[in-house]
Amino acid sequence: MTMLTVAEAWDIVSNHLFLPETENVPLLHAQGRVLAQDVRADRDIPPYNRVSMDGIAIRYADYQSGVLKFPVSGIIGAGDDGPADIPPGTCVEIMTGASLPPFADTVIPYEQLLMEGSVAILNGEVKYGQNIHLKGKDRKSGEILIPAGRRIGPVETSIAASAGFHRTNVVKPPRVAIFSSGNELVDIDQTPQPNQIRRSNSYACHALLQPYGIDAGLFHLSDNPDQIKAALGVALQSYDTIIASGGISAGKFDYIPEVLSDLGVNKLIKGVRQRPGKPFWFGKKGTVTVFALPGNPVSTMACMLRYVKPWLEMSMGLPAAVHNVVLAEDIFFEPGLTLFSQASLHIADNGQLVATPLRHQGSGDYSSLLSSRGFLELPAEKTRFEAGTSFPFWPL
Ligand code: AMP
Ligand code: MG
Repeated sequence: MTMLTVAEAWDIVSNHLFLPETENVPLLHAQGRVLAQDVRADRDIPPYNRVSMDGIAIRYADYQSGVLKFPVSGIIGAGDDGPADIPPGTCVEIMTGASLPPFADTVIPYEQLLMEGSVAILNGEVKYGQNIHLKGKDRKSGEILIPAGRRIGPVETSIAASAGFHRTNVVKPPRVAIFSSGNELVDIDQTPQPNQIRRSNSYACHALLQPYGIDAGLFHLSDNPDQIKAALGVALQSYDTIIASGGISAGKFDYIPEVLSDLGVNKLIKGVRQRPGKPFWFGKKGTVTVFALPGNPVSTMACMLRYVKPWLEMSMGLPAAVHNVVLAEDIFFEPGLTLFSQASLHIADNGQLVATPLRHQGSGDYSSLLSSRGFLELPAEKTRFEAGTSFPFWPL
């Protein structure tokens, strides 16, 4: 298999999307999920003529005929019914959020009044109908408030909650198993020996998927083909998606691609002309999608951002999160590979999003990722990338 370009690799990945089902979940557990139904207004918004200032409600005709002192005939708080009617020339005190009674048409805020006992004395101009948010002004009952396909965040939650969607239909994400691999790796609650390190990649991958409502299972493979085969064999039967990191390069103990083939996973990608992440491996067995990523933490992250995350987003009906950014400085890169360069971002005076590549960015150096906002994608066909030209940026 010849090594693919990034565009060819992405073409293959994006042609093997996961086909999700939907499920009904409590709104409280729907953060980050994708709506699988329209959220419609069950009533007009606002549902009644809503008072928008604390003050008094009057008949505008009284004001027009010259009344400037309004005896108070009652008080209406938010949620109260209030009196059915009031004598001519008088007012009711009324609070923000209350339903305007039918006999009144205008609300004067306390800021425009002098309250002397039970008489409200007016100062300043009054306009007919002021400080009332009319029934149905924002939306009519039955209108779509949020279309299906939107990812649920705090604003969507607020709207869904006000329309009574205590449960909602959402896209069911894939069941994901994440495998770390390598004899040098211990779990994060262990104390590593001098020649060991902690398996951070699994946690990074888990963290990247969690905002989509995925609670991936975490597993570990030692560099032993029989053990790898047994564990991946089980995972292929109980998960929709497998993400493995490590053990896929040219090392003597990199068994994973071979074992995946033995297990009947159809290899679709083995190696992409890119840095980092060149050994990227992708395959399918039945409906199960397998991503096998190189183990260097920065390579794993680059492949997660360039392939796995957009694959997940597209599978769930979301646009892939990619920006266009402008290069802050010239870059030269000669190896004939697409360069995924870590970069910081800032907004220029003209409003453009500008990316500055980081100076030090080895693929094992994940501390540099802290200063990076993601990966700039600089295509393999070119060696010289000029300041001011624009390129895709895959955000962290
Ligand atoms: P490999 O792809 O297995 O050759 O691993 C490449 C490098 O990444 C090695 O230095 C590994 O120790 C390191 N590595 C592999 N997997 C992980 C992981 N889960 N967390 C942190 N580092 C890892
Ligand atoms: Mg390894």
